[in-house]
Amino acid sequence: MKIDGTRIKPLREGMGLTIQQLADKVDLSPSAIGMYERGQRTPKLKIILILAEFFSVDVNYFAMGFTVSHEQIENSYIATEVFKRASGICELCNTMAPFIRSNGQPYLETYILKDHSISAEHVAAVCPNCLKKLEVLQLPGDIIYLKNKICKN
Ligand SMILES: [Zn+2]
Repeated sequence: MKIDGTRIKPLREGMGLTIQQLADKVDLSPSAIGMYERGQRTPKLKIILILAEFFSVDVNYFAMGFTVSHEQIENSYIATEVFKRASGICELCNTMAPFIRSNGQPYLETYILKDHSISAEHVAAVCPNCLKKLEVLQLPGDIIYLKNKICKN
């Protein structure tokens, strides 16, 4: 597996951490993290395992050419952030979630706008109908609408 350290940055920024803060939390040197993020140095697998655990992402997220799946998003802290932003309203059709989960959370699903980035800015919370519509029709208008609404870049 070829490791891509530049993928650390979106995760770190997604959590609102500086390089120094991340370094303190995972007990690594800030200069090493900076070099990984700029692609000047490749992190060893041992480092990637620590970071994957810290960010609650699959270790394969750091593999080059790896595409992020809905399941991986659902299991990461990103989903919490995305659902909090949507607050029970589908970000595509703007209607309420179809039902409430047994834990009291409105039921919405995640739709990934950018395959290679795990960041709340690139994931939309949509109702199951809209998720199917996005997957089946792949209307450029829907995708542009979501990108304008969610992505800061
Ligand atoms: Zn919807």
